[in-house]
Amino acid sequence: MQTERPLEERVEPASEVRDVRRTTCCVVGGGPGGAVMSLLLARAGVDVTLLEAHPDFDREFRGDTLHPSVMEIMDQLGLAESLLELRHSELRNFTLQTASGPFTPVDLGDLKTKFPYITMMPQTSFLEFVTREAKRYPNFRLVMGARVRELVEDDGVIRGVRYESEDGRHEVRAVLTVGADGRGSRVRKLAGFEPVKTSPPMDVLWFKLPRKKEDPAGIVGRFGRGHIAVMLDREDYWQAGYVIPKGTYPEMRREGIAALRREFAELIPEYADRIRHLKDWQQMSLLSVESSRCPRWYRTGLLLIGDAAHVMSPVGGVGINYAIQDAVVAANVLSEPLKESQVRLVDLDVRHLAAVQRRRELPTRLIQRAQALIQQQVLARALRSKEPFSPPLPLRLLLRIPVVRKIPSRIVGFGFWPVRVKE
Ligand SMILES: Cc1cc2nc3c(=O)[nH]c(=O)nc-3n(C[C@H](O)[C@H](O)[C@H](O)COP(=O)(O)OP(=O)(O)OC[C@H]3O[C@@H](n4cnc5c(N)ncnc54)[C@H](O)[C@@H]3O)c2cc1C
Repeated sequence: MQTERPLEERVEPASEVRDVRRTTCCVVGGGPGGAVMSLLLARAGVDVTLLEAHPDFDREFRGDTLHPSVMEIMDQLGLAESLLELRHSELRNFTLQTASGPFTPVDLGDLKTKFPYITMMPQTSFLEFVTREAKRYPNFRLVMGARVRELVEDDGVIRGVRYESEDGRHEVRAVLTVGADGRGSRVRKLAGFEPVKTSPPMDVLWFKLPRKKEDPAGIVGRFGRGHIAVMLDREDYWQAGYVIPKGTYPEMRREGIAALRREFAELIPEYADRIRHLKDWQQMSLLSVESSRCPRWYRTGLLLIGDAAHVMSPVGGVGINYAIQDAVVAANVLSEPLKESQVRLVDLDVRHLAAVQRRRELPTRLIQRAQALIQQQVLARALRSKEPFSPPLPLRLLLRIPVVRKIPSRIVGFGFWPVRVKE
């Protein structure tokens, strides 16, 4: 429903609020989803304010993958070339060594795209790049160190947020507030949305291991007795992931770091010398694997995108891809209505927000269903196995058929529904 807002609507700041600023769209969270959505809206001429809780974009182990679909989106914006000038490596396939030999469920090299690989780039570099581009538009404002605490609500309509920064509390009033604040989204909680969770059977420990110049490029992956190890080539170091049965981390800690080193070295003996560098639990980050989806992603004046709307299992590493695809669809659908609301001072029709969820919910459900299948049929079995593990024979045979082999690569590379920026 569209309701007219009085032209000279007076804003009475709450006593402790230092100032009140207006914008058309207030994006909460400068992760991949929020940053890309802000850039696209700014580029389309919408006034955008992006609020990021952290004082910088420095992140460790937050997913440093840009899939072919993201690179195609950057290419459409004319930014792929300059993005690829930043330090990165390329990952063309996922090959895991199993008890029955190498198993390659995903080979992006076969895809018809200018970017048949996953671009491995620190998320910090990507976010700095995207926000630098957005800053070229005078209608874009970035506030770092701005932690959103409250929603501004008026008669059931969300009209902005209050945030805290070093110098006190501030208010931003907006036609649309976008919750892009990640898996623990405060905006989602404040708006009263409860995600439906499923619990994947594993957790992942991430840590860095030294890399030598002569080491092979790409990915090293192994299925072992009750564990899975992966090592991703990050040029200067290996990003190692150790997949463990869900909830067993406290038990691992009791057993001690020497036991972890021993098991990892058994799985990847050729890198046994590197694992010695792991001396302290502080060197590791635990990813408590979660998969969830909000039944509803919007309310009048508010939209959730990315992890705030749906947390993805790490299978296929599609979280960033999906957050950015949400951002593109949201910007495609909302740019014109937001500009209209900017000019005419009218509220945003909630049907536009519903359209964003409608377009993104099915691809999200489908990928989560596919991830659950892989978790049950492959990962849970591998983690239960007391013997060196091999993926089920029917799956291995199926993936030998060329047409079938392309399906997982396509889904990982582009998702279930390729997305393009509307010009
Ligand atoms: C350890 C780990 C490894 C991962 N590996 C991969 C991978 O290899 N590939 C992949 O695709 N995905 C990976 N993911 C998932 C991926 O990081 C997320 O799916 C993706 O970042 C989601 O993007 P987003 O923009 O929705 O949210 P986020 O990236 O979570 O960004 C949310 C932003 O909101 C900010 N924020 C939070 N609260 C507030 C607040 N109150 N006020 C203002 N700002 C706020 C945060 O500081 C953050 O910058 C990994 C996740 C983790 C935890």
